[in-house]
Amino acid sequence: MELAVAPEMPTYSGGLGVLAGDTVRAAADLKVPMVAVTLLHRKGYFHQKLDPAGWQTEEPVEWPVEERLEEMPGRAEVVLEGRRILVRCWRHEVHGAGGFRVPVYFLDVDLPENSEWDRTLTHYLYGGDLHYRLCQEVVLGIGGVRMLRALGHGAIERFHMNEGHASLLGLELLDEEARRAGRTAITHEDVEAVRRKCVFTTHTPVPAGRDQFPLDLAKRVLGEHQAMSDIKDLICCGDVLDMTFLGFNLSHYINGVAKKHGEISRLMFTRYNIDAITNGVHAVTWTAPAFQELYDRYIPGWRQDNFSLRYALSIPRQEVWQAHAHGKRRLIQQVNQAIGSGMKEEVLTIGFGRRAATYKRADLLFHDLERLKRIAAAGPLQIVYAGKAHPQDQGGKELIRKIFQVREAVGRDIPIAYLVDYDMEVGRLMTAGADVWLNTPQPPLEASGTSGMKAALNGVPSLSILDGWWIEGCIEGLTGWAIGVDGASASDEADRSRDAALLYDKLEQVVVPLFYRDRERFIDVMLHSIALNGSFFNAHRMLQQYVLKAYF
Ligand SMILES: *Cc1c(COP(=O)(O)O)cnc(C)c1O
Repeated sequence: MELAVAPEMPTYSGGLGVLAGDTVRAAADLKVPMVAVTLLHRKGYFHQKLDPAGWQTEEPVEWPVEERLEEMPGRAEVVLEGRRILVRCWRHEVHGAGGFRVPVYFLDVDLPENSEWDRTLTHYLYGGDLHYRLCQEVVLGIGGVRMLRALGHGAIERFHMNEGHASLLGLELLDEEARRAGRTAITHEDVEAVRRKCVFTTHTPVPAGRDQFPLDLAKRVLGEHQAMSDIKDLICCGDVLDMTFLGFNLSHYINGVAKKHGEISRLMFTRYNIDAITNGVHAVTWTAPAFQELYDRYIPGWRQDNFSLRYALSIPRQEVWQAHAHGKRRLIQQVNQAIGSGMKEEVLTIGFGRRAATYKRADLLFHDLERLKRIAAAGPLQIVYAGKAHPQDQGGKELIRKIFQVREAVGRDIPIAYLVDYDMEVGRLMTAGADVWLNTPQPPLEASGTSGMKAALNGVPSLSILDGWWIEGCIEGLTGWAIGVDGASASDEADRSRDAALLYDKLEQVVVPLFYRDRERFIDVMLHSIALNGSFFNAHRMLQQYVLKAYF
């Protein structure tokens, strides 16, 4: 549904799209023959405006599609509510470290042949209502397969669904099987044939992250399909078209995105065999210029082979510190220019950049302001935030407002900045410029999290709740620090206080003293972040696991 190619193309909202982009970039590096399909999102995932009180409003981002992408001659068609909709697509090619190319196809229905309303279906990412979303998913799933065929990709061996938004592709593959056999009715052999071709990655244990549509809506939009009548167990249970179940039922391999998330998913979906492949990020994309230059000098070949980042341990500490200082200066300059918050390069800088969703608990650090001020009095702190709330997420918007209120209250003692329009560019700046990357999700809701992996590539250790990837990535005091212990955090208010207290303890007793009074050992943690985590939590390792475990 979303894929992040470049900051100047606002075709993604967050982790899901960035991961899709990183997967494609890794495929290009590793010469894995892959093509990607997504929607165009002509109006982008909104421009974020924050008023002086921190209240978010949204504006569409118009971007020059024709300048950034190449239009393809192929056309496809889908039927929505009995109407024929023409689909075209635009291509972007991702170039790998060795020159191999992987195309990304952006589907577009904004064509004069289509009706006014239909033309809007590839305008807004996660906009509109259920009906709008379902129509988009027909374009993505069914239109996607047909477009691939129209472009001459007839012999695709594996279809990898990145979440349930693309699950309708399974219906199209079923119809293809039946057609090929000269039938109209779908048989169990067809289902087995499609399952052999499909792979499904589930990304979230949050129910709101799952697409479910009332069956009567689905029938109205899609028309009568056998999958919604006599083989109804394919699509879920009762009167719901559940895209997760549809994707599961038509895949031979299903995975969660970290080991813990695999466990949680097996508990949520007990009838399915669910594996785990822990996410990774594309190293070159997320490594800041100063570190790229450092790795080029000390670890030649790291661009093609991210595993070799393990040799970072032999880079002289002073050079690592200088590369970090370079990234930090860029961030502080940007923050001071944009917001005038008077941040200083010597001060311990905490970074927190992620979607403003309530389960991510961006305000946990502010649970006890007096305590936070005492900590900052012993060793100065400054905090940089960024993140968009989904336009319909009031809770997320309140969270941003609360951060603005806290800034009013403590900004004199603890400079706080909120950068607008969190995107790949802001993400890069922050994950390279902070001294410590903070993450405080409410377990077990952070399926993986990936921004801490970007930080690790830039020698920035994480201070995080043990959830998602951090359960695997945290070696206490060596790659960063845990807040609490695995499985101890939960969702009620008492646990929130306890998680906050544990966060303050770790900051006060470990992180702040280490940063100000034992810089050599702090830099040791930075080196191990790169060598142990940068070398593993990258998209090269992730894609190799997909190739071995899922694709073949
Ligand atoms: C990496 C990234 C994310 C995902 O980060 P999480 O740690 O999973 O929250 C979201 N948005 C942008 C712009 C990113 O670069």
